[in-house]
Amino acid sequence: MAALSLYNTLSRSKEEFRPIKGKHVGIYSCGPTVYNFAHIGNMRNYIIVDLLKRLLLHNGYNVKHVMNITDVGHLVGDANIGEDKVRLTAEHEHKSVHEVAKFYTGEFLKDMKRLALMEPEIMPKATDHIPEMLSLIEKLDRKGYLYTVNTGVYFDTSKFKNYGKLTGLTFDELNDYLISGARVKRASGIRNTTDFAVWRFSNPDEKDMVWQTPYGKGFPGWHIECSAMSMKYLGAHFDIHTGGIDHLPIHHTNEIAQSEAATGEKFVNYWVHIEFLQVNGKKMSKSMGNVYRIEDLIEKGYSACAYKYLVISAYYRSQLNFTFEALEGAESTLEGIYSFMSKVSNMNFMGKEEGNGTFAERAKSLKAEFFESLNNDLNTPTALSKLHSLISETNKAQKKGFSKADAKAVIDTLLEIDSVLGLGFSKYADREELPKAVSELIAEREESRKNRDYKRSDEIRDELRKKYSVVLEDTGSGPIWYREMPSSRKH
Ligand SMILES: [Zn+2]
Repeated sequence: MAALSLYNTLSRSKEEFRPIKGKHVGIYSCGPTVYNFAHIGNMRNYIIVDLLKRLLLHNGYNVKHVMNITDVGHLVGDANIGEDKVRLTAEHEHKSVHEVAKFYTGEFLKDMKRLALMEPEIMPKATDHIPEMLSLIEKLDRKGYLYTVNTGVYFDTSKFKNYGKLTGLTFDELNDYLISGARVKRASGIRNTTDFAVWRFSNPDEKDMVWQTPYGKGFPGWHIECSAMSMKYLGAHFDIHTGGIDHLPIHHTNEIAQSEAATGEKFVNYWVHIEFLQVNGKKMSKSMGNVYRIEDLIEKGYSACAYKYLVISAYYRSQLNFTFEALEGAESTLEGIYSFMSKVSNMNFMGKEEGNGTFAERAKSLKAEFFESLNNDLNTPTALSKLHSLISETNKAQKKGFSKADAKAVIDTLLEIDSVLGLGFSKYADREELPKAVSELIAEREESRKNRDYKRSDEIRDELRKKYSVVLEDTGSGPIWYREMPSSRKH
């Protein structure tokens, strides 16, 4: 099994990944809060998670991936103050909270499909796991971690040893950090700024998504959802937890505190955080008018895979600046790869079908370097440079002379690489059947070349390109042809 190293936020260092249970890996990803469309920054996070999962599968592990759907309890501002995001949208859109959650869950799944992200094995909804949350709350209550104020039942963060260890700050430093940046507003009656609600009391007029429980009538806090659902499906102690870097100081810090306080065990071994996406060098915000969805990119004529390629071209722990120029570049590069796939798949080896396949060895070593880079904390920029070396070296080698075995090695390598990137290379890997008129023209051109009638030979080449989008190239192994990629772009 290839050795994967991952940067672990918990230790602030790159560590060799060792699963708890042999070949089985459990991953939990904080999923979407379904009160609005996911934007491209959210999707950056899920693209990287998908890459990590596919790499683990490629490395030979069995992966159980859990991603939750937050359909209740996530407040505006992420901390203790404000309204429930889903409920707020329901009011604005004059719909029921269930309708809102259902609609935006559907839209999120659509985006995942467009980006060819593998669906997680389990996608639990918060509203389906209230009993699990209550049993966790009960455990915390029995151990004396909770207290009640007029807005809900709170977790006393000062009682949990090493609270905030994920942030690298001490308890006091973290409290100061949250207050000073006005990152959280202190709810009235709470003991520490970092304390958070595990159960919130509802207003008397709230009817939807409200539960009558021994802890009062209300709904769960956002953080308790992820602890309850991750531990239900992956066990009290599991391998990897992922999320956007914005979740680190509050949401993930609180997940650790309440989970470990309840079970007395270490919650998660590896914490993987994905950096922010900026748009034109600025933070995405509604007021700036720079919040884009995958749908917006598609409407402007770009493909979802072009965005995925752009994301993969940057290291996940660096901020990524999204611009339409960069997206344009990603789209061209991707089209170039598709074109290359189609070309190598359609090479014609006139009489050299059984070459010695010397390039196959080189393809193999570049493939090894590609996966080595990915296994080095998902170093995608270096990995992609190996992919591009494979393409440019193939082009050079093929001009000198290539064999069927060489071509097959290149195609197989690209397909294996794509089993992890998920960019749809396989669509271009088929050997296309030549229409009769085309094969006749190619034969005629060969005949003209033999007779040194270069004028006719060039004419035929132009005709093939214009009429049939077929490009002919003369190489050391004889002519090859490929269909020119029709650009999918409308912009
Ligand atoms: Zn979460």
